Amino acid sequence: MIIKNNLTALKNILPKGVELVAVSKTKPIIDIQEAYNAGQRIFGENKVQEMVNKYEVLPKDIQWHMIGHLQRNKVKYMAHFVRLIHGVDSFKTLIEIDKQAKKHDRIIHCLLQARIAKEETKFGLPLDEIEQIIQSEAFATLKNIKVVGLMGMASFTDNTNQIENEFKNLNSFFKKLKTTVTSNVIKKQNSELKILSMGMSGDYKIAIKNGSNMIRVGSAIFGARNYIA
Ligand SMILES: *Cc1c(COP(=O)(O)O)cnc(C)c1O
Repeated sequence: MIIKNNLTALKNILPKGVELVAVSKTKPIIDIQEAYNAGQRIFGENKVQEMVNKYEVLPKDIQWHMIGHLQRNKVKYMAHFVRLIHGVDSFKTLIEIDKQAKKHDRIIHCLLQARIAKEETKFGLPLDEIEQIIQSEAFATLKNIKVVGLMGMASFTDNTNQIENEFKNLNSFFKKLKTTVTSNVIKKQNSELKILSMGMSGDYKIAIKNGSNMIRVGSAIFGARNYIA
């Protein structure tokens, strides 16, 4: 009941147009099933093998999002079903996703992960590299991926001003990039920037205030995890 109540409470305060990814990493099938029974269909995992295992036993109308740092050699295991890959942080990874998607005759949707946090530990591409990738000729040749937006993680800090600034920064870059992409007729095929994935349990309110339209929430729905994942 707790999961259902948490989910309902969260959904009640979400503005229209903000999508909720329920982050179920480390959580058992029974917990996901409870969220599913309460109407949730989008789930996020950060390990490919764990996501595959869950995909195999859970209802097939679940949309699985890969939100973790991605190892290129693991892409093939999820290429037949993954709905959105949030953490793409290199052009090489895009090439691999494209290659695996082609094998299944799919177009896999991706978000490029932007480095917005000050900490060295956060993954992601510098903003200028994101722009370079999207503008490149090589990118235009990838027919089996589609970049549908950006993902970012704010610094792990109590300083809400800093978090807010990092989200603001990504939001304005996102808007600018959209304008660039829209004005570029040739490369429209595989980029359609509409999703800005920002915000977790601790900072989703700040993220939404600053332009996020997809939040990734784990512990506020499922409770604290047993280990830091
Ligand atoms: C674990 C994780 C989340 C969810 O974190 P919570 O604080 O539990 O909401 C969101 N995004 C990513 C990339 C994660 O790895």
